[in-house]
Amino acid sequence: MYPRVIALANQKGGVGKTTTAINLGTGLAAIGKRVLLIDLDPQGNASTGLSVDRSGNLPGSYELVLDRVGISDCVRETVIPRLHVVPATIDLSGAELELVASTRREFRLRESIRNIMLPYDYILIDCPPALGLLTLNALAAAHDIIVPLQAEFYALEGLSHLMQTIDRVQQTLNRDLNLMGIVLTMIDRRNNLSIAVEADVRAALGDRVFDITIPRNVRIAEAPSHGLPALVYDHRSVGSQAYMALASELLKRQKKRLAQEAKTEAHNDAVPERQEVLA
Ligand code: ATP
Ligand code: MG
Repeated sequence: MYPRVIALANQKGGVGKTTTAINLGTGLAAIGKRVLLIDLDPQGNASTGLSVDRSGNLPGSYELVLDRVGISDCVRETVIPRLHVVPATIDLSGAELELVASTRREFRLRESIRNIMLPYDYILIDCPPALGLLTLNALAAAHDIIVPLQAEFYALEGLSHLMQTIDRVQQTLNRDLNLMGIVLTMIDRRNNLSIAVEADVRAALGDRVFDITIPRNVRIAEAPSHGLPALVYDHRSVGSQAYMALASELLKRQKKRLAQEAKTEAHNDAVPERQEVLA
């Protein structure tokens, strides 16, 4: 099957990209989906957060992007059934520079993962906190982008830059890139600012914001130091429950999108016939 490719991106650091990649991936796996998480951040937090070794000689996302090693050679299992990882090995930190000089430099990841039959329903890509070539590779390769956004005072400022980048990617690298949604993270319901920011973001972006929000929750923060997703570390915590609900909302949003895409395709298919008639 051809997996649905979803990039988790925001150039702002520490907003919950990796936490969302790990726990959304685990949530989807818990629902029975087969998920591959590609760690495209040289920090390697998604790999360590899932106890996947980043050293050693086995290929990871660096080789996937730069050496065109087949994806199946880069995949590692995790302790979670149906969740696999392509880890970010140490050499990924040099990848941005190496990509600058390479041909089709924005499309390297796309050529390694799109239109290839793989045993996954979803590929999630955890991006680094920058809009450099690694993130562009992810956006060129993805069907959808999910933007984790921390509910804080400056939240909307960085977002307009990201929206412009998405526009630019749609015009140049990947016409069909779909903004699946913005996920508000680290929401604190006891904090008026957090509530006000959520209201602002919803007023500005409407249904582009996921209904489900992720609360600030200590179990989510603790889980990576145990090398486990929060969903496994403490599946009853409010944070874990929120990520399960987010996985369900993702399925709903994807269903809606697929219906739209089918409609557009049917329309596109119909156009040439009409032209023939006109000719
Ligand atoms: P970077 O840009 O550096 O890659 P990121 O966007 O991937 O960061 P995370 O690493 O997911 O962000 O989260 C940043 C920090 O906040 C981490 O220490 C993480 O454990 C913590 N964190 C994330 N989400 C929550 C939450 N809902 N509640 C409490 N802590 C959280
Ligand atoms: Mg991260």
